[in-house]
Amino acid sequence: MTNVLIVAEQSNGSLKKSSLNAVGAGQLLAARTGGQLHVALLGQGVGGAPAQLAALGVTVHVAEHAALAHGLAEAAAPVVAALARAVGAGYVGGAATSGGKDLLPRAAALLEAAMATEVLAFAGDGAQVLFRRPMWAGNVVADVELATAVKVFTIRPTEFAPAAPAAAPGEVKAVAASVDAAGLKTRFVSFEEVKSTRPELTEARVVVSGGRGTKGDFKPIEALADVLGAAVGASRAAVDAGWVPNDWQVGQTGKVVAPELYVAAGISGAIQHLAGMKGSKVIVAVNKDPEAPVFAVADYGLVGDLFKVLPELTEKVKAGK
Ligand SMILES: Cc1cc2nc3c(=O)[nH]c(=O)nc-3n(C[C@H](O)[C@H](O)[C@H](O)COP(=O)(O)OP(=O)(O)OC[C@H]3O[C@@H](n4cnc5c(N)ncnc54)[C@H](O)[C@@H]3O)c2cc1C
Repeated sequence: MTNVLIVAEQSNGSLKKSSLNAVGAGQLLAARTGGQLHVALLGQGVGGAPAQLAALGVTVHVAEHAALAHGLAEAAAPVVAALARAVGAGYVGGAATSGGKDLLPRAAALLEAAMATEVLAFAGDGAQVLFRRPMWAGNVVADVELATAVKVFTIRPTEFAPAAPAAAPGEVKAVAASVDAAGLKTRFVSFEEVKSTRPELTEARVVVSGGRGTKGDFKPIEALADVLGAAVGASRAAVDAGWVPNDWQVGQTGKVVAPELYVAAGISGAIQHLAGMKGSKVIVAVNKDPEAPVFAVADYGLVGDLFKVLPELTEKVKAGK
């Protein structure tokens, strides 16, 4: 079974950016296996997302159902499993987003498939596909073999180039989604969207993060982020102290980011934090301790007090604009 099924995600009828990376990964995998690439899109009122996917030249299977409207993994997993069987997929994957991490393990269980999460690349010779993934907070990178007939995986979006538009659009097919809505043990209660004028953390080109060194005062972090058009991130210490919301957390148990520029201020550089940002193109660290481990991964290190350094930097950026 060489065919590949990628599960894409949409929000309010727009394709999520991470799905472009997942389709990019699917294209690489299908090129290796010699199979066909199929993409699944689930929801209700999926708007322009199928056309966005079709523009990538892939076959899109759209399953619309009221029970799929709010991304309930329990409702979606059987639909994905049925589609995987219908298209003869030996590989079923998607982006390691909150939704993907919820849905794909359930689909794997239904397909009796082994699973590799947070895949960074595909390895192996010839027809063999190994899944390269981080372990021990990124301190070990292992090539993992999945020995089941069907293999399920999530990819880390920052590690795969987004799929590019194709010369000819792919086909869009409607799939009859059979969902036992009455039998579901989970139900949608409410959705509280965090509205922000700043870019989304995992999609931002620039991220400015603060840690325990801020002592709870994120004003200098936010001021620098705003002149740079950046997203704001944080270490777990800052989140656990209740200083900032937990969706700002970067790291092993937070979000994984790989922006063009990552500024870490008042962050020591524990391995669990580095696991979420060391793939950034340029890393700038501001810390008053010259021995702080963050300097080992920094491209530019500034030993100093963030309450002095960041306002100066903010003013310089403003003046340079
Ligand atoms: C299972 C597990 C999962 C974890 N997951 C995560 C995760 O996802 N993300 C994460 O971040 N952590 C995670 N952690 C926690 C991690 O181990 C560290 O405890 C945490 O990252 C420390 O945060 P920090 O660097 O802000 O604080 P600290 O380690 O206390 O560092 C504060 C730094 O600020 C500097 N500083 C102080 N004042 C100033 C100043 N005025 N100007 C400049 N610098 C100053 C200090 O020199 C110090 O280096 C996890 C831990 C475990 C066990």
